[in-house]
Amino acid sequence: MNRIRWITAALFVALGLFALSHLSAGAESNISVVSTSHVNKFPTNVTFALEANSDSDITKATLYYRIKGSPVLTYAYAKFDPATHIETEYVWNTQRKYIPPGVELIYYWMIEDAAGNRLKTEPSSFTIEDTRFEWQKQDGNNLTLYWYQGDARFANSLIDISNSGLDRVSRDIGLQLQEPVKIFIYASSKDLLGALEPKAQEWTGGRAFSELGIIALTVEPSQSGLAWAGLALPHELSHVAVNQATRNPYGGLPHWLDEGLAMYAEGPLEPEYQRPLDVAVRNDRLISLQSLSSNFPADPEQARLSYAESYSVVNFILSDNGRDKMTELLAVFKEGSTYDDALLAVFGVDMDGLEAQWRLSLGLQPEATPVPVAPTSQGAQDGAVRAEVEEKPQSGGICGGILAIVGAAGGILALGVRMANG
Ligand SMILES: [Zn+2]
Repeated sequence: MNRIRWITAALFVALGLFALSHLSAGAESNISVVSTSHVNKFPTNVTFALEANSDSDITKATLYYRIKGSPVLTYAYAKFDPATHIETEYVWNTQRKYIPPGVELIYYWMIEDAAGNRLKTEPSSFTIEDTRFEWQKQDGNNLTLYWYQGDARFANSLIDISNSGLDRVSRDIGLQLQEPVKIFIYASSKDLLGALEPKAQEWTGGRAFSELGIIALTVEPSQSGLAWAGLALPHELSHVAVNQATRNPYGGLPHWLDEGLAMYAEGPLEPEYQRPLDVAVRNDRLISLQSLSSNFPADPEQARLSYAESYSVVNFILSDNGRDKMTELLAVFKEGSTYDDALLAVFGVDMDGLEAQWRLSLGLQPEATPVPVAPTSQGAQDGAVRAEVEEKPQSGGICGGILAIVGAAGGILALGVRMANG
């Protein structure tokens, strides 16, 4: 591990020298840069260092950085006492504003002195790697798989799973990856947790950072690990493909659509999802599509039903209207439409209308049966609350394949979280 760190540090120094040799000096500037460098201490921080001289006191050094593919440019001031020679650094705490492995970062410095000179360094770029492991990599169709435990056959199987998942997404939903995806395979939950933000739940089995085209997943190099990957990889790849096809500055998809497509990408609905769906249909206790449009319930049983319903609605749309209509719907969402307007434009019904059609297809009345309200209860109950009183299906004893959605810090990303098998 030390050797890897040493090599990594050497690379960073090399990058720093590259930056030094490509300075864009201001016309009359007397500022000169002695060195710039960066050290990646994933997952804790990235330290950017600067050494510079000028004839007058250097008063300000601003670091500008942005994630490749993102238009957001962030800046930070390095702290130092004004002097003609400065050695300073800025430590970017990557746990407070979490950054996953595989992100490419671009940065430069702006240096200013008391005489009014300014000097901007040429941008440097590097990838924030998880240097705790010795990664191997293999390319698939528009994706790269990184892994560190297991043999080449294991990696080939994961590539095959990813490719066939993407084939299914393309064939049945009409979506292809538009930008390359990086998949990091961790051999244990402990290893994965070490790569996630400190608040990550212990049961987290994987994450899709859809906006960044990055997936981090726990897959043990074993038959059961591959079986798990057979569901999880197509699921997360669907999230990335959907994000790439619909990304826009105005709004996203209803959760039930994004998750329903991801569940559909996995293949036929697993019995542990089918069972609670059947129970909810039998008792007319489905969670409403309005409720399923935002974050799913945290309760595992309710989460399971939410995913099952999402699959069921997407399956209904695809079998009733076909793949091309789904592609059309996603294209409308890319324009930044509201949920109702998008559905009206493509299917001629709003979300309530779609829900009524879907309910009919399940043998239910178009409208949900109102739940009797106990005298002590307060006011109307929404779908999620209603569903909490439904008969609970028998649990299989392990929380295999339960999915939940949480928002990332800053609300930029929707993260797919899947519980690992117990
Ligand atoms: Zn998901």
